[in-house]
Amino acid sequence: MEFQVQGIDISELAAEYGTPLYVYDGDELAGRLVGLRERLCPELEIFFSLKSNPNLSICALLSGHGARAEVSSMSELLTARRAGLAPRDIIFVGPGKSRTELAACLDEGIYAIVCESFGELDVIEEMAAARAVVAPVALRINPAFSVKGSGLTMGGKPRQFGIDEERLLDADGLVLRYRHVRFMGVQVYMGTRILDEEPIVENTRRILATAEVLSDRLGFGLEMVDVGGGLGVAYFEGERDLDVDLLAARLNPVVAEFHARHPETRLVMELGRFLTAMSGTYVVRVQYVKDSRGQNFAVTDGGTNHHMAAVGVGSFVKRNFPIELLNRVDEPAVESWHVAGPLCTPNDLLGKNVALPPVRVGDLVGVRRSGAYGPTASPTLFLGHGCPAEVLVHNGQSYLVRERDRPEDLLARQHLHSLATLTTARTTR
Ligand SMILES: *Cc1c(COP(=O)(O)O)cnc(C)c1O
Repeated sequence: MEFQVQGIDISELAAEYGTPLYVYDGDELAGRLVGLRERLCPELEIFFSLKSNPNLSICALLSGHGARAEVSSMSELLTARRAGLAPRDIIFVGPGKSRTELAACLDEGIYAIVCESFGELDVIEEMAAARAVVAPVALRINPAFSVKGSGLTMGGKPRQFGIDEERLLDADGLVLRYRHVRFMGVQVYMGTRILDEEPIVENTRRILATAEVLSDRLGFGLEMVDVGGGLGVAYFEGERDLDVDLLAARLNPVVAEFHARHPETRLVMELGRFLTAMSGTYVVRVQYVKDSRGQNFAVTDGGTNHHMAAVGVGSFVKRNFPIELLNRVDEPAVESWHVAGPLCTPNDLLGKNVALPPVRVGDLVGVRRSGAYGPTASPTLFLGHGCPAEVLVHNGQSYLVRERDRPEDLLARQHLHSLATLTTARTTR
């Protein structure tokens, strides 16, 4: 028995598109968003963080089901626009926005520039003044508090992100100093990979309270409060997935209470991993099997160059993503295998001591839950393999949504500086 995506055998997809390959299940992708949408109160709008998977078709599919967009670069902004998102449903976040990026934010008329420093505020003011416009700016706060339970804790620490809450509380007259800025909201992002419901609720409660205090203190209205997100998915043994029903039961009253007091305020949650991770499988083909001093190795045609996250997130002990033998999913996993990629570095292991059936050359190995932080968060140029193909299965049909890089593509942007000319120049001197 084979792993299937919407009824299509994985070997069929691998034969048609080649390997290594990312396959996304469009039903799973839409289902994540719709499932959350149906449970969370409607006042909370979901913004898709393109960082987690900036594929144009993934973005378009999510947008088609009502997701807005949170972008952090020119390419992500362009992706969101091409995917059909309206400027009023796009926010731009990031600590190092260039003038080119800020110009695009102003010229496109996006909903909010999430400003991360006083210096950035000066640049926005200058650029908006030059254009004779008023820039919609939300302040990203680096909060004084932190809440435990995240894979990466953001609050209460020195960070390059946002403006320290203490500094803002002291910034009397800030709002009046910037004539071409409309302070319209607050954004806080507390961390990522949160797998407990309670810290998410607690984060949200405190962010909403902080937003109220700051808007009172500094004297601006809350058109938007962005409560971040950081909702995780379980990758590793011993982890459990979020209980969305439980999350909704706890979170909705907090949101509703704030909404009752601020009925005009747009409430935003930013989600990347939670929306995209489950839908994706990274598919590689076994090139060789070998035994080295008693350890089984399956050497495949793709590795950490496309899936850096699989080497383990923030832990000393290597923990594996869920890895399966896709072309024989029903066979008992009675052996222990290291799954290696093609890179010439010992770190190129997708999984260590993975329980698999006896592996043969030509088998397809899959890393599940891999739709977030895949190729675009990996060193795809390392050893010149380039990006893998990406395929989206939608309504029972498969679509190539990103072509595999060819060696010519990787070389296309290089210019050969003629060594012959250099040599001549030196000898004639
Ligand atoms: C990375 C990031 C996200 C998305 O995080 P996930 O854990 O993938 O949901 C959202 N907002 C900001 C500001 C980020 O930096």
